[in-house]
Amino acid sequence: MHRHVEEIFALVTRRNPGEPEFLQAVEEVFGSLDPVVERHPWIFTSGVIERLAEPERQILFRVPWVDDSGTVQVNRGFRVEYNSALGPYKGGLRFHPSVNLGIIKFLGFEQIFKNSLTGLGIGGGKGGSDFDPRGRSEGEVMRFCQSFMTELYRHIGPSTDVPAGDIGVGGREIGFLFGQYRRIVGRHETGVLTGKGLDWGGSLARKEATGYGAVFFAREQLRRLGLTFEGRRVTISGSGNVAIYAAEKVFQLGGFVQAVSDSSGYVVDDDGIDLALLRQVKEVERGRLASYASRRASARLVTGGSIWDLPASVALPCATQNELSGSAAASLIGSGLRVVAEGANMPCTPEAVAAFLEAGVSFAPGKAANAGGVATSALEMQQNASRSCWTFAQTEARLEEIMVGIHDQCLATAEEYGSPGNYIVGANIAGLLKVARAMAEQGIV
Ligand code: NDP
Repeated sequence: MHRHVEEIFALVTRRNPGEPEFLQAVEEVFGSLDPVVERHPWIFTSGVIERLAEPERQILFRVPWVDDSGTVQVNRGFRVEYNSALGPYKGGLRFHPSVNLGIIKFLGFEQIFKNSLTGLGIGGGKGGSDFDPRGRSEGEVMRFCQSFMTELYRHIGPSTDVPAGDIGVGGREIGFLFGQYRRIVGRHETGVLTGKGLDWGGSLARKEATGYGAVFFAREQLRRLGLTFEGRRVTISGSGNVAIYAAEKVFQLGGFVQAVSDSSGYVVDDDGIDLALLRQVKEVERGRLASYASRRASARLVTGGSIWDLPASVALPCATQNELSGSAAASLIGSGLRVVAEGANMPCTPEAVAAFLEAGVSFAPGKAANAGGVATSALEMQQNASRSCWTFAQTEARLEEIMVGIHDQCLATAEEYGSPGNYIVGANIAGLLKVARAMAEQGIV
């Protein structure tokens, strides 16, 4: 790391104790910056690195609500409005018991570079709560969402900050959040949230976009190696929004998805994952993978060990941060792994990433490979602003074009800055330069 960047990182470490995920994300980006700061000294003089280390605004709030037994519950709400140099803050809301300020800051920080890579004029932000929707009734989820929005509404708007979904926040939650926003402000401001229902401002292909986009990215990685998805054995972790639609696109491209997971374990299906059943269990019944395994003779549930113990040619980690460790990476490499594309945010630990790079595995970081979700959210904002509605085919074609563009931009930038084939360096530098130029041109704010 460049000496000056190292000094800034030491300050970031002192200022943000107890936030390991945030520090991990910052260190990963700062570690790519040497060739940039040597070539563009204005980045130092305009204080870009120092400013990127600190969110523009961090909002913390109480979310009180009453559960079905009449007991008062209190959760904590977060919105980190990280950087608006390129456009309104844009990034999802995560409802999961593991959520804390450090997690939201790490996700917001990553979002800046991801959004920049899409080329669509959106800034970086993220939010959420330590609320756990699992096991809660529909009424409880609705009351929680209404209370959450009763505080959040004053901070967001179509030109200010536009939240979307993430872990634990899907179409149902976006519906409850939008309903409360509309009721409070008294206007049908469609552009305030993305991931909306198709009858009230949502975009076709938004639900599929993150998973499809990650697979389009992986297809380009394979293409660069002279390979395709045809007949290839693929492991996908998670079984939520990103994982389900990544699996769908892998099947469409001729690949074989052998396993998916959730926090209770993973399921291996010798006939390939049955998407209709997976959707029924996860999207309709909101159930566990044990229920999938119990209804499929070719499937078994594994509750010990890791999904990454399975031999695979392509790995798509689509669950959560730091879920794929150094030892998991070693076992995948030993089994002939060729390509990793992160559908989740930062799912591979630094040790895993180092092992992939060392072994010559093609590795794509989440900020590039999973940018299809936010890119299609920006397409939803475009449709809302022009009161138009694109077809599925049109939207998917635009998504594919954006993902291929991000892939090529990462490779070209990595080459230009002396690390050919390194998607991490390419994504970090290409993402940063655009934000950095905007920050420098807009003065010290
Ligand atoms: P969902 O809530 O739809 O699904 C998350 C999946 O991951 C579930 O199967 C869940 O299992 C599993 N999971 C979550 N936390 C853990 C954990 N601590 N240990 C093991 N499994 C876990 O979320 P998404 O699919 O939307 O998000 C998945 C990842 O993709 C996240 O990293 C998110 O930030 C990222 N992402 C999402 C985008 C989107 O458009 N939705 C856009 C870009 C990135 P269980 O149900 O058992 O908890």
